[in-house]
Amino acid sequence: MILTDSLLLHYKRCQRRAFLDLYGNPQAKDQVQDFVLKLQQESRSFQEVCLADLNYQKVQYPYGDLDQGFAATLELMQQGVTHIVDGVLQGSHSSGAALVAYPQVLVRQAGDSRWGEWYYVPMNIKLGKRPKAEYQVVISYHGHLLTQIQGRVPDRAWLMLRGRGHGQGVSPYSVDLPKWLPVTQQIIDECIQVLSQDKAPELFISRQRCGLCPWYRSCYAQAQTEEHLSLLAGVTPNRYQQLQAVGLTTKEAIAQTKIADLEPIMGRSIATTLIHQAQAIVTNQAILQRLPQQPLPVSEIELYFDIEAEPELNLDYLLGVLVVDKATQTQEFHAFLAETPEQEAQIWQQFLALVQSYPRSPIYHFSDYELETVTRLAHAYGITGGSLGELRSRFIDLHTLVTSTVILPVEGYSLKQVAKWIGFSWRDPNTTGADCVCLYDRWLLTGDRALLEQVRRYNEDDCLATHRLKDWLEDFWQISTQPST
Ligand code: SF4
Repeated sequence: MILTDSLLLHYKRCQRRAFLDLYGNPQAKDQVQDFVLKLQQESRSFQEVCLADLNYQKVQYPYGDLDQGFAATLELMQQGVTHIVDGVLQGSHSSGAALVAYPQVLVRQAGDSRWGEWYYVPMNIKLGKRPKAEYQVVISYHGHLLTQIQGRVPDRAWLMLRGRGHGQGVSPYSVDLPKWLPVTQQIIDECIQVLSQDKAPELFISRQRCGLCPWYRSCYAQAQTEEHLSLLAGVTPNRYQQLQAVGLTTKEAIAQTKIADLEPIMGRSIATTLIHQAQAIVTNQAILQRLPQQPLPVSEIELYFDIEAEPELNLDYLLGVLVVDKATQTQEFHAFLAETPEQEAQIWQQFLALVQSYPRSPIYHFSDYELETVTRLAHAYGITGGSLGELRSRFIDLHTLVTSTVILPVEGYSLKQVAKWIGFSWRDPNTTGADCVCLYDRWLLTGDRALLEQVRRYNEDDCLATHRLKDWLEDFWQISTQPST
C-alpha cells in the first residue's frame, strides 16, 4: 500500500473517504462540482501569489514517476537550493507500507543535516484562513518524511494561509512540529491499519463534512437504504456513539424511548429534542415544541428577504425582496442585482429605498446571514431613511423561529429541506446556493445574461419559500393550540 498525503488528509476528515479513495469503484464517484472546480482554481491562483516573490526551483520529472521525482528532489536538496517547489518525498512504515508526499515548498534553513550545514522545513500553501488540524497533520507528515530523509527533525513548518478579510494577502502560520509529530505518527499508524482492512469504515452523513465529498451520492444512498441514524437531525457523531452504547440503533427505538432514560446520557434538552425528532420522522408529523414568545407582527404588507453572495469577492451581489400585500393579495419581487462588484453600494441604496418605503413592515428572512450583511453594508455605505437599529429591529429570522418552536420530519433545517416538506418546490430543483456563486462568477467572465437570470430565479424562489414557511408556521401554531374536538 502507498500512503499519500492526500489520503492522510481525507482520512483525517473522514476515515471512510480515505478507504473509498483507495478501493472504491470510481464509477460511483460524483462528478466534480462546479464549486469544487472554482475552489481548485482559486487555490492555484493563491499559490501563484505566494510563490511570486520566492526564488525557487521546481522539481522536474516524468508525470507519475515517483522514483524519479524523489531522486530529483534529493538532488536539489543536496545542492542546497533555497526553495524547492513540487518535490516528492518517500519513506517507509514499519507495516511495510510505502509513504509518499508532495510538499508544495521545501525551504532551506541553516543547521546541520546529512546535506551539510543546511536542512529543509516544509511549507504548504492553503486557501483557508484557519490552520485546520488536517493541514497541520499533513505538513507534519511532510516533516516526518523529512526527518527520515535528512537525518534531523525539522524544527518548524509553515502554512501560508489567506489573511482574514478581503484583500488581506498571505498570513504565514508557524506549525509547532514537536507537538504535532507524535500525534501525526499515531494518525499514520491508525490510517494504515484502517486502510488494511477488508471493509469500508461505517458512513456518517454530516452536511459539513460530506458536502463537497465525491462519494456523497453513494454514501447517502446507502444511508437511506440502511436508515442510518446520521440522517436523523441532531444526531452528531458523539451522540451516535452514545445511542449505540445504550442499544438505540433505529429511529423507531429512539421514538419509543422515555426522556428520563436518555436524559442521564445527553441531558434533558437534547434527549427531548432527539426523541421528538425521531417521533416526527416515524409519524411524518410536525410536533409543536413550544409557542413563540410573542406573536408575529400584524402588517398588511410583509417583506421577505434573501441574499446571494460571492464570498471570494466579499460581495453581496443580489438583495432580493418579495413584497407581499395581504390587503390586495398581490406580491412583487424586487431583485437588486450588482452586475459588477462596484455596484454593491448602488444596490444597497436601492434596497434601502424599498424597505424604508414600508417602514412598519416586518422583514422575514431565513438565517442570520441577512442581518449580518445588512449591518456590514450599512457600515460600509451608510444608511438613509432611519437608523440601523430601527432597520434591524424589523428583521425576523424564521430559521430561529422554526427550530425553537417545532420539530419537523426532515433530515436538517435548511430552507430547502424545511420548505420542501411543507410542499414548496423550487423551479430549478437541483440548483444550490454554491451553484449560484459559480453562475455569478461565470456571468462576470462571459456577460451571459441567462446566468444572471438563473440566479435571480433561484433567489426569488428562496423568498417565495420563506413566505410559504411563515404562513405555514402561523397556521401550525394556531392549529396546535386549538382544543381537539
Ligand atoms: S460522503 Fe461523507 S461519509 Fe461518505 S466518504 Fe464522504 S465524507 Fe465520508
